Amino acid sequence: MQGTGMRITDIDVFQVSWAADDRPQQRSAFVRIHTDAGLSGIGEASPMQGGLASLSIIARDIAPGLIGKDPLDHAVLLDTAFHTFVKLGPEGALTGALAALDIALWDLKGKFLGQPIYKLLGGAWRTSLPFYASIGGNGMRSVDQVLRVVETRLKDNPAAVKIRFDNDRNRLDGDLPGDIAKAKAVRKLVGDGFPLAFDANNGYSTGGAIRVGRALEELGYWWFEEPVQHYHVKAMGEVARRLDITVSAGEQTYTLAGVADLIAAGVRMVQPDIVKMGGITGLVRCTALAQAHGAELVPHQTQPTIGHMASLHLSASQLHMTKPCELNDPSTRMHAVFDNPPPSRSTGCSTCRPGPASGSPSTKPNWRNAAYRSAERRVRRLDCAGIGARLFSCRRSHQFRRRPCQSKPGSFAPESAPRGEAPPRLSPASCSRIR
Ligand SMILES: [Mg+2]
Repeated sequence: MQGTGMRITDIDVFQVSWAADDRPQQRSAFVRIHTDAGLSGIGEASPMQGGLASLSIIARDIAPGLIGKDPLDHAVLLDTAFHTFVKLGPEGALTGALAALDIALWDLKGKFLGQPIYKLLGGAWRTSLPFYASIGGNGMRSVDQVLRVVETRLKDNPAAVKIRFDNDRNRLDGDLPGDIAKAKAVRKLVGDGFPLAFDANNGYSTGGAIRVGRALEELGYWWFEEPVQHYHVKAMGEVARRLDITVSAGEQTYTLAGVADLIAAGVRMVQPDIVKMGGITGLVRCTALAQAHGAELVPHQTQPTIGHMASLHLSASQLHMTKPCELNDPSTRMHAVFDNPPPSRSTGCSTCRPGPASGSPSTKPNWRNAAYRSAERRVRRLDCAGIGARLFSCRRSHQFRRRPCQSKPGSFAPESAPRGEAPPRLSPASCSRIR
């Protein structure tokens, strides 16, 4: 078998803090894969509990088997790892680990071949990606508070707004009339023609979901997200089949087979997350699956750095993009890397835009991964500044050693945003763009 001659030599896993008092469970989780060609790739894992479980699986279990391998064999390497360590999961921590590694290996491939990832995926169907404002925490807010938050996010000029409820999952159907009242109030605020989505965050029983769904249909909402517990696939399908509104699910589905089960149950819109289930390779497989079954695929995506860029590359290359890309609430971690909102508001919805090279926006098109690089540089600066906790390093010797934790409680990089101050901004040309 012929290879590139390039070999993986070293794999780092590390966290990055976004604020001085971030606990390990609040940090973002990254992996960096180094090669003997002098190239490295960076990937992001699901941030649940700081991604510590995924980083640990990478360091202890997967990385030793990757050292010395050709990074362009990424699908073979990661499918092997999935089946080798399937009993560690197969969901959650393991697939988050594989997602981070996959994104890093695609990054390496892009650098090695000198091409942006979307080009390696077959090219971009679109050079401008609209976003929707994804607004969390509305279950605990009053109607007036919900309206104030929505008003604020409307100033970002999103293509749509999604109100997420984020209620206690131990308590279903907590306040159905109150939730419907909020949905009505938001509709009245934005007007009849504005696209709205409602995310129940698994907060309803089947009957409760159908009741809320009927109200959303009357109110002209665009989609109804995760109405029931994610693990009740049949119930999710029943709600989807009984309602006219598009019912979506899949942000907590971690395997291709799981996404197939959702579609078979009747869910018409699936939302796998690139940092949770298989990375770019996993999402590419999901897009093919969804396309074959006539289901919509709209990636879930709430991470502002590498995960965001990887998801945009995937979305740019996706044949049918039926909904805008998710852009999460403003946050310290978001502001550390991207403007929020992204700077381009020219058409009222186009903000995540593959564009020409940074510094020469109109004269020198250069379809490289500048924004991806920008995010990587930012992560590297934060890491090198000592606020990230470098956990493990796995080297060619197949020995991995615990590195001293470099985190400095109470400190953060000069360029990160102290709480309550204006966030740092990258140049508009490098924000939320794919290159
Ligand atoms: Mg959701």
